[in-house]
Amino acid sequence: MSQLRDQAATATRRFTSLREAAGPRATLLCFSHLRWDFVFQRPQHLLSRAARTMRVIFWEEPIGTDRPAPHLSLRSSAEGVLVAQPCLPAGLDPAAATAAQRTLLDGMLRELAVTDPVLWYYTPQALAFSGHLRGRPTVYDCMDELSAFVGADPMLPVRERELMARADLVFTGGYSLYEAKRHQHGDAHPFPSGVDTAHFAPARGSLADPADQAAIPHPRLGFYGVIDERLDQDLLAAVADLRPDLHFVLVGPVVKVDPARLPRRPNLHYLGAKSYTELPAYVANWDAALMPFAINAATRFISPTKTPEYLAAGRPVVSTPIADVVRQYGKMRAVSIAATPAAFAEAVDAALRLARTPAAWRPEADAVLADMSWDRTWSRMAAFINEKRGIVARTQETLMASRATRPTQTAASRTRPHYDYLIVGAGFAGSVLAERLAAGSGKRVLIIDRRPHIGGNAYDAPDAAGVLIHPYGPHIFHTNSKAILDYLSRFTEWRPYEHRVLARVNDQLLPIPINRITVNKFFGVDLSQSEVEDFLASKAEPIETIRTSADVVLSKVGRELYETFFRGYTRKQWGLDPSELDKSVTARVPTRTNDDDRYFNDTFQQMPLHGYTRMFERMLDHPNITVELGVDYADVQSEVSFDQLVFTGPIDEFFGHRYGKLPYRSLRFQHETHDQAVFQPVAVVNYPQETVPYTRITEFKYLTGQEHGQTSICYEFPSAEGDPYYPVPRPENAALFQKYQALADATPDVHFVGRLATYKYYNMDQVVGQALATYQRILAQPAPARARAEQVATAAE
Ligand code: FAD
Ligand code: UDP
Repeated sequence: MSQLRDQAATATRRFTSLREAAGPRATLLCFSHLRWDFVFQRPQHLLSRAARTMRVIFWEEPIGTDRPAPHLSLRSSAEGVLVAQPCLPAGLDPAAATAAQRTLLDGMLRELAVTDPVLWYYTPQALAFSGHLRGRPTVYDCMDELSAFVGADPMLPVRERELMARADLVFTGGYSLYEAKRHQHGDAHPFPSGVDTAHFAPARGSLADPADQAAIPHPRLGFYGVIDERLDQDLLAAVADLRPDLHFVLVGPVVKVDPARLPRRPNLHYLGAKSYTELPAYVANWDAALMPFAINAATRFISPTKTPEYLAAGRPVVSTPIADVVRQYGKMRAVSIAATPAAFAEAVDAALRLARTPAAWRPEADAVLADMSWDRTWSRMAAFINEKRGIVARTQETLMASRATRPTQTAASRTRPHYDYLIVGAGFAGSVLAERLAAGSGKRVLIIDRRPHIGGNAYDAPDAAGVLIHPYGPHIFHTNSKAILDYLSRFTEWRPYEHRVLARVNDQLLPIPINRITVNKFFGVDLSQSEVEDFLASKAEPIETIRTSADVVLSKVGRELYETFFRGYTRKQWGLDPSELDKSVTARVPTRTNDDDRYFNDTFQQMPLHGYTRMFERMLDHPNITVELGVDYADVQSEVSFDQLVFTGPIDEFFGHRYGKLPYRSLRFQHETHDQAVFQPVAVVNYPQETVPYTRITEFKYLTGQEHGQTSICYEFPSAEGDPYYPVPRPENAALFQKYQALADATPDVHFVGRLATYKYYNMDQVVGQALATYQRILAQPAPARARAEQVATAAE
């Protein structure tokens, strides 16, 4: 890491001189999935205008480099935008690539002395490495339904929801997109594509025909834009066949579709990508313009920038029925809409006739264009941003002023009411306590989470395909406690679900936990239950005191089964040999001699019928509970006025890692959607071999019972770096935790609850139990005088 940091530092030092050029202006930092130099479209139009008054940094997706270490390439574009390109060595795994981008980003922000930037997202994926930044404001300029594009990451909708939760403002690239997204954000505004009329106006006069177009005969019908799955190739071919006397010119890069498979005809001409500057000369020498878009998921929400550009260039347009084109331009004389090849060909004929009488339709087109300039679009967007910056600035100014005069009561604490409890973390621990304190004791509760959603690691959400997934890995509910089940049943109905797992061993899929079938298949025998008992007893190694995770398994099933099913898996999962881990880890997995192949022994095994997130929503739906997401405790601890704190984050973090860091094991999840109904025979298949880098694959539909033509799965790659998921049960870690526990005991107004705050490898039900027990302890506390009467009254209910 430090090497990386050094690298980032050297990389950023190279562009120190740009700081002077940038001056003291506010910074807009844009995260984009499109490259600045690709085609000149919405991001380029808006941000080059932003660059007239602000410093604009355009952060692109990484490119590969031969150099051994990540570095940043930064240059100034002709429009005055700083284009930042992270260059990463090939073969970096996704977690390392994310970490490298974050390091490079932080290095650049430090080096360029960026404070309070406007964060401007085109891609929610960038949250992975920029989620720690706070925008003033954060803007999501949603220009497409990216999840509908070919090859989209199935996690995109999940990340988009995170971005929606974080964003202060959402702009959409068209009206259909606005209608699809506005329910997800309270401050969303449609901004269909604008047009730079002055850029295209020369095309209404005569401009020299570019060399590669000059030889193409007239009449010419032209299209410019990215040639990908959005273009209806069949329609294009059919129209070209129906009108062999007309010539169809296609200008633009071919992306994601195989160029060799594009329809080829003598009257179809592919000229490749051209710069934005060159476009008017091409259009000037067409007779009419086309938008032969396919009507599919990828085009459902598009609002093509080229419609007004073609009109500004004085060309009639023929388009397929793209919703936003029909809506915005469908009634204009200059624009005809046609869906079938025959209708399209006829519309092309009509457009060619219109081209001969421009005076008949251009005034109408110009009237529409007059209100659509990119200048106007940007200035309206800027007004929204300035308003947000104003609001934030006002709050901070008041905050500063109030800090100076009244150090204990801040402006923010006055804008927020006083709370009885501040709860940090909206997972099981925090949410159960919020619910109990609010509904059970009438307390006013503020619950915050640094993540943009509730539910902690148990959060679930539909992915791009609409399959309900667990973004943080499979969560299966099981408990022996009727009380815990009854408590949660207040917030959810259930579906019965018994979890079954198979382990892939030597091309066989064998039940895990080890049972009679596992033994018989693994050893190629056919033993009865009692024979298996004797067989395992003969294999078991005598171990006097069971202390480690190796002891647990060796003493029950012997070395062969231990090495095959447990040793490799555990080494991968924990980065430690089972002999280095407390016995409690592998003791989680039972050994059986009968045919029971369920993963858990618990009395109650069931899943929340509508998912965990819905259950959490119902838990937190109380007038006394305020939920703030995307908020870190460190950011608000001095701003919120409260009596007591419930902390469910890592205990070592709470105490500033005073005694050093408590070790946590993390995971990287790789989510995939497959175009098939079923991927594997059970919900989870374990891969115990050390040669396979992941530990297990989960297929979520088994857990949720969802019926869907596609299926979503998740690989788990254990990792030393990343979010803290697993406390590591080892004696020295327990000793270190005890030191933090002593600090916690000496901090009476803070309640430490949950997996991270108590450093316990707890399941969900255990965390619920721990939170309910904490609530009982809080009830037993001597209450502050002003709350006591109220508490006694509600506790008696
Ligand atoms: P979390 O769910 O981790 O919630 C803590 C929250 O606090 C987080 O959302 C975090 O963002 C927030 N937070 C932390 N610090 C701060 C801060 N400074 N400011 C603001 N917010 C903060 N259990 C089962 O019963 N069955 C299973 O099948 C199962 N499978 C699992 C699979 C995986 C891969 C993992 C990692 C765990 C699994 N668990 C399972 C365990 C389960 O996830 C936990 O028991 C449970 O989520 C713990 O709840 P919690 O509230 O203690 O912690
Ligand atoms: N384990 C293993 N092989 C398996 C399943 C589990 O070695 O096929 C070990 C491994 O060390 C794992 C522990 O048993 O961490 C507990 O497994 P469990 O499924 O309870 O882990 P979870 O993923 O639920 O934390």
